[in-house]
Amino acid sequence: MAAGEFVSVHSQADTEEADLERERLELSADPEAEQRELTSIYMRRGLDRMLSQQVAAQLMKHDALGAHARDELGITEAFSARPLQAALSSAASFSVGAVLPLAVAAFAPETTLLAWTAGTAIVFLALLGAVAAQIGGTPVAKSVWRVALWGTLAMAITAGVGTLFGTS
Ligand SMILES: [Zn+2]
Repeated sequence: MAAGEFVSVHSQADTEEADLERERLELSADPEAEQRELTSIYMRRGLDRMLSQQVAAQLMKHDALGAHARDELGITEAFSARPLQAALSSAASFSVGAVLPLAVAAFAPETTLLAWTAGTAIVFLALLGAVAAQIGGTPVAKSVWRVALWGTLAMAITAGVGTLFGTS
């Protein structure tokens, strides 16, 4: 699970890297076209032509690649993909999500044990997915949904294997 997380965020980071490289090339090949591009982006956001030209010119002088990364590609330092962090928080949420239901199982009545364990496991997974999203700076709802879904599937498979081989 952590491995999957690492791969998906890592490929996102690769895409950002490729976008930045292309932007860097465009900037050195045709800086004037790039400045016009930036100007039109600011005009679309509601600034008038004069101001857009001034903003584009000054930002290009200050940090051309940074301005294009932020305003054209939508890449900011705070939001750029952090694969290792996402993998770590995913691994942490998965192990805590597996341990806590065991604690619940110790106290739940035997007749409803499975429902208690599975139910709380999903709730814990969803909660931890939210925490992981906060840490990783990714959308919370998406993370909760993904962690809960895959966690539930993993539990179902584990339970299935346990039943098959009589080890659970
Ligand atoms: Zn550009």
